[in-house]
Amino acid sequence: NWEPLHGDVEFRDVSFHYPDGEEMIFEHFNLKVPQGTNVAIVGETGAGKSTLVNLLCRFFEPTEGQILIDGRDVRERSQLWLHRNLGYVIQTPHLFSGSIAENLRYAKQDATREEMQAAMKAVAADSIPERMEHGYDSEVGEGGDLLSTGEKQLISFARAVLADPRIFVLDEATSSIDTVTEKKIQDATELLLHGRTSFIIAHRLSTIRQADVILMVEGGKVIEKGTHEQL
Ligand code: ATP
Ligand code: MG
Repeated sequence: NWEPLHGDVEFRDVSFHYPDGEEMIFEHFNLKVPQGTNVAIVGETGAGKSTLVNLLCRFFEPTEGQILIDGRDVRERSQLWLHRNLGYVIQTPHLFSGSIAENLRYAKQDATREEMQAAMKAVAADSIPERMEHGYDSEVGEGGDLLSTGEKQLISFARAVLADPRIFVLDEATSSIDTVTEKKIQDATELLLHGRTSFIIAHRLSTIRQADVILMVEGGKVIEKGTHEQL
């Protein structure tokens, strides 16, 4: 289960509705993403963008169909394997109860303090442990609830930088992050996109322009697929 990951992703005939929802969000969705492809996902609020990437991260399972990484169903992989090979920053970030350091080490068990600091700095998150009483050993609380949503997102981002994953998923925050931090995150994102398979729910045109493929999602359907020039 620990063989190195290449980074091919495939949605194969995926249909999905939330456990408590009756309406199908996706129906028979097919998409092949070869290793190294940068995919941007755009669409209006409620269109199903987060749902698509949350399925890939295995927060939910497809009602029908399969999601494959390197040709293997993600359901065959452990959560820990996913965490170390697929870096993600989602809209509703979730940390584990424990310290900041423990949360970061989840992505890379043997990470040194210096590596953690560098990762946190890269995403402008280094001020978070600095203002807490016990620095990196400060507890984040149940689900990370002692921190704000923006702070949780930044720590998730640092965790993804540290994991150095083959696949990177980013559900960009539209709010809760100031412009200075946003600029740092943009730089870190560009770094993470290079040479990796990525799925970015993008709001900035610059991110969208750089994508190899743009998925336009509407009402739970991928209505268009193409590059920036084609759309
Ligand atoms: P936004 O741009 O606002 O983040 P989105 O494109 O990411 O929107 P989704 O969060 O994927 O949209 O939501 C798609 C649909 O699924 C919406 O109708 C939403 O209400 C519904 N939905 C999202 N999360 C859940 C959930 N956990 N349980 C039930 N329904 C959900
Ligand atoms: Mg969303």
